[in-house]
Amino acid sequence: MLDKNKKYAVLGLARSGIAAAKKLRELGLCPFISELSAKPLDTETTEFLDDFPHELGLHSEKLFEYDSWIVSPGIPLDVPIIKEGKKRGIEMISEIEFGYRIKAKDSKIIAVTGSNGKSTTVSLVHHILKNMGKSTILAGNIGAAFSSFPIEKSGIDYIILEISSFQLDLISSFKPEVAALLNITPDHLNRYEGFDDYAFSKTSIFKYQSESGFGIINKDCAETLKHLCAKPGKMLSFSLADSTADAFVSGRSVQIGQDSFDLEKLLIKGPHNHQNLMAALLIIKALGLELQQAYEAALTFPSLAHRLEYVTTINGISFYNDSKATNTDSVRCALKSFERPIRLILGGSDKGEDFSLLTDELKEHTAKIYITGDTIPQMREAWQGKLPMTIEEDFAQSVRRAFEDAQHGESVVLSPACASFDRFSSFEERGDYFKKIVWELKSEKEQI
Ligand code: ADP
Repeated sequence: MLDKNKKYAVLGLARSGIAAAKKLRELGLCPFISELSAKPLDTETTEFLDDFPHELGLHSEKLFEYDSWIVSPGIPLDVPIIKEGKKRGIEMISEIEFGYRIKAKDSKIIAVTGSNGKSTTVSLVHHILKNMGKSTILAGNIGAAFSSFPIEKSGIDYIILEISSFQLDLISSFKPEVAALLNITPDHLNRYEGFDDYAFSKTSIFKYQSESGFGIINKDCAETLKHLCAKPGKMLSFSLADSTADAFVSGRSVQIGQDSFDLEKLLIKGPHNHQNLMAALLIIKALGLELQQAYEAALTFPSLAHRLEYVTTINGISFYNDSKATNTDSVRCALKSFERPIRLILGGSDKGEDFSLLTDELKEHTAKIYITGDTIPQMREAWQGKLPMTIEEDFAQSVRRAFEDAQHGESVVLSPACASFDRFSSFEERGDYFKKIVWELKSEKEQI
């Protein structure tokens, strides 16, 4: 329950901060908004701010007049204002905790975190529940903020939340009915003192769950097992191999109890997506819903844009857009997702990774690599003489070269292992550009 006698401040004027401030206003409260950036605002945000006491370009002493701060996930917890606020005993919560406090009692919360696979898994769960006729919302790190929905009103069966570690750092009562931790691999280490801190932050998704709450974990993830301190009442696990897990892969199927679900029929590909499917089905099991019906719905779930997204097939050559694969780990997932060696387009802006770590897997799973972008020198050094390669400065040209080289039945995959900022403003823009080139190629070939 939200304590309406407290005075609230919102730190950070981004998506979740704006949603929280609006919701507080709807609930009859008047929060103070504090934003460090002094950047000029668009008209909509300026008009929105007119309704609130606020400050821009600083976090001032005025904040200390407020009892509870809703802190944006973008604000690191070691900045001076946060440290001083903590010293003075001010309550600090994330927008996820705030949403939890105001939501209607009858809506059940499904929360998903992990280093990779969150968006896919929450979208899959949302797709399944909608197909089963449930009223659901999908919120958090994906789409709109949690508190931007009418969550204080009853009638929403399930609230599905994608949650980052930053949101978990400031929870104090958040109690999802079902919580899933997909995996823990190094990420965001610039915001944590070390990997252990990051891992403990992830496992805190289970921290306040009650005895009746379900926790879902990946039995293949050693870091999860090592850092799990708070355990929910009921634990379910999944594994790609271990038959003692509640859901596991056996041959070409997922096994859950007596039920067996064929993986071949899915539209999403690769072992990482099999893990996401198992997590989603265990969530459905934890909710006490029909597994077979859920699986039928999962069969129509297409991959999300830019994540091994099937584009089209031209003259028997299939194209996949995996622009979201901005690190070597994601490329590994893509490589394991195809039966036959692929033509792989790599390169972009450097994140300091050691590309040579991919050499053996590239040898095994690619027919040829096509290197483009700012990382040409590093990638050439890592793989010259070890792998067949073509180097093209121009992105469009490298896609065309891959197509020209490809044989009937092969796949051309953009899975760059790099960020996109050398040539594009985001991974989405890069993926859209890739798709545009592919569709141009298709219309050229169809005219012949
Ligand atoms: P997130 O929201 O956590 O970033 P996404 O669902 O957007 O995750 O997937 C991002 C990338 O992470 C995918 O392109 C894929 O390469 C990889 N990935 C997806 N699911 C998993 C998983 N379960 N384990 C490891 N990697 C995964």
